[in-house]
This record gives sequence, structure tokens and C-alpha cells, in this order.
Amino acid sequence: MSGQKHAAVLPVEGRPWEEIRRSLLDAKRGDYNWREGRLPLYVYYDDEALLKVSREAFNLYFSENALGRKAFPSLVQLEADIVSMALRLFNAGDEAGGTFTSGGTESQLLAVKAARNRALAERPDLAQPNIVVPHSCHPSIDKAAHYLGLEVRRVPISDTFRADPAAIAKAVDDNTIMLVASAPGYTHGVFDPVAELGVLAEARGLWLHVDACLGGFLAPFARMEGYPLPDFDFSVPGVTSLAADIHKYGFSAKGASVLLLRSETLRRFQQFEHRNWPRGVYATDTFLGSRPGGPAASAWAVMNYLGEAGYRRIARRIMSAKQRLMAGIESIPGLEVIQPSELSVLLYRSWDAALDTNALAEGMGARGWFMGRSVEPEAIHFAMNPVHAPVIDRYVADLRAVSIEVRESGRVGALDESTY
Ligand SMILES: *Cc1c(COP(=O)(O)O)cnc(C)c1O
Repeated sequence: MSGQKHAAVLPVEGRPWEEIRRSLLDAKRGDYNWREGRLPLYVYYDDEALLKVSREAFNLYFSENALGRKAFPSLVQLEADIVSMALRLFNAGDEAGGTFTSGGTESQLLAVKAARNRALAERPDLAQPNIVVPHSCHPSIDKAAHYLGLEVRRVPISDTFRADPAAIAKAVDDNTIMLVASAPGYTHGVFDPVAELGVLAEARGLWLHVDACLGGFLAPFARMEGYPLPDFDFSVPGVTSLAADIHKYGFSAKGASVLLLRSETLRRFQQFEHRNWPRGVYATDTFLGSRPGGPAASAWAVMNYLGEAGYRRIARRIMSAKQRLMAGIESIPGLEVIQPSELSVLLYRSWDAALDTNALAEGMGARGWFMGRSVEPEAIHFAMNPVHAPVIDRYVADLRAVSIEVRESGRVGALDESTY
């Protein structure tokens, strides 16, 4: 692992595991410490006990391959159970169906693919199908459209960062096949008006997909705890599909999400089936072929381990940590939290010309805090996790100290547009 290009070579003789293990752990030394709450995204962590369940379950199914449905009925059952638990959580009826996928991007890709194939089946003359989405929509939809040869129309959002149903309606034309709403969006953490978009989707015969990838496994439990959130799932007429990541606030190992369909009959538009090769029928519902068994085992285990009570406890912890962080930020002269902040995401910035937001982010970065950045509006982006609860006081103390340094030096930072 040197700086030279393609410096690594396959060793002629294998190396001993102990040495390899040390190298792997050493390689992490430059990483941000997620266990100490230094990351505002990427890793979802509650405690060691939950991590142990997730990891041990993963390892129990480490070698199995979910492509082999006949060989591994165990995985078929685990995935069916996960989908069933998720369908109930999102108020789907008995006629609904769903698929366990490798993550939000795959769930979104499959939703777009199914919407496209349904549209083409109903309207074979459709020349250039398009998808209409709010500007805040996650780029996985554009990625899917890019792969599938579709156009995406991004429509400006309201001053509360939500989809604007009137503007969306105006962008819809005869070639539109699909609308997407976020619940909540990653960019500003707010819920799009799913009910109003549902009315529009029904009136125009469009597929309405709800992207609940981020908050799908948090919002229902925050609601049970009394936090007021709008309806966003299959209880809303017009919602056709919903994606929710278990590897975010579901706390499973990465590689776990679900795509849910209001009606099982829609699944035929999602499927791929091929016969013209020497091995008979090859049929899958997912983008991947060979699929690891670990993520499904982890997701199944974590959902059963936490149960509703565990997820509610985590939701309380996240929401109260967010309140404390917001109060801490607001107590620092010149800083403001951008409203609304509905679930786990908060944005904040300086309103004071003498205190530059980008310099503040750079100063916090130098103190070991990985800083998420929002470009529109220019702000610092933070997605709360239970792991942040114990470090909020330290975060706020550092933020206060850095804000004094930045004011005194008059430093101006640069906007870092690329978090990834
Ligand atoms: C994370 C996320 C996605 C994409 O999911 P991956 O798991 O990163 O592939 C899609 N939409 C939203 C709102 C997300 O937060």
C-alpha cells in the first residue's frame, strides 16, 4: 500500500494470516473513527451488543449464495420474513409484495426498471419516457435512468425544501411514466408531500415511488414515540412502490434494503427472465446475480433482536440527541440551524459574515470530525445516529472553540462539494 501506481503485487508465496490481519487493521489508521461518533453519515451504530448480533448472523451465512433459491431455502425464508416485516411496518395490504436487495441504489434501480417496463407494456409506442422528481431527489434515480435510457426532470423545490406538487404537475407530460417522493430526503431531511403527489399520480396514471431509503426504519418508530410526521407509506393512495434501507436506520450489515410493491402483480415488470442459453431458465428479481447470504441473515437477526421496542428506544435516543445538538449549535453566536428539521438530519450554518461556514467546517475537520456538506444551501449536514449521543457535548465544545478561532483569524474556507 504505497503511493506508487499499481504497486501491489500478488505475493509469490502466501503470507501468514496473523500478519495479514495486522495489515488490514493498520490500513484503517487514517480512517475517521465511527465508533467514537466522528462520522455524520456512512456508519449506523448503536452499541457493541447489536453489532455482535449483526456480525455473527452475517458470518453464519457467510458462504451461502442467495442466487440459489433451490439450494438455500433458508435464505428464501429469511428474505420473505424481512419483506413481510417491512410490508407491515409500511401499512401494505395482503396483495403487496417485495424484494430483499443489496441497498438503496438497487431498490431504486428496480423501482425505475419496473415502472419503465409497466409503462412500455401499457404504451408500446412511448418514445422517450421521463421521470419527474423534486430537485432534492437522491441521484440513485438518475443513475437508474442513466442505465435504463430514461430522462429525469428535476423540478425546483419549495422554500421548506419539499417537492412542489404544482410545479411537478406542470413538468409532467404524455411521456412521463413515474414520480418520486422522498420520505425523508437525504439532502434536507424533510418529507415530500406524498399525499398530494399520490393524487397527481392517480389522476395521471403514473407510478409513484417513495424513497424512504434513509428514514424508512426510523420514521415509523419516531412516530410511535409521538414525533409528528406526515403519512408517507402505502396508507397513502397512489403510492406504487417504496424503498427502505435496512443497512441505515435498520442497523443491519451493509448490503440490505427492501423494494416493496403495492401489488405483487407488479413484480413481473421488475423480473428478468432468460431462456436462450444452454442452461434453461435463468430468472431473477434483483440486479445482482450471485448474492451474499450475510446481509439477509444480519437484517433478519437485527430486526428480531431489536423488535419494535428496540427501534423505538433508538428513535428516542436519536431524536433527543438531535434536540441537544440543535440547542448546542444555536447557543454559539452566529450559528443557526436551518428549519425545518423533521427527522434525523440537520443542517446548520453561520448567518454572520465574520464567521465563515466553510472555515468552520475545515476547522472541525482538523479536529477529527468528518464534516458533511450541503451545497444548496451552503451549510453543514449532519445525520444523527445513536453513537452521537455521548459525544454531543464534545462536538459543541469543539464547534464553539473553532468558531472563536475562525472569527479571530478572519479565515475564509472553500466549499467542499464532494462528500463522497
Ligand atoms: C442512502 C440513500 C439512497 C441510496 O442508498 P444506498 O444504500 O447508498 O445505495 C437513496 N435515497 C436516499 C434518500 C438515501 O439516503
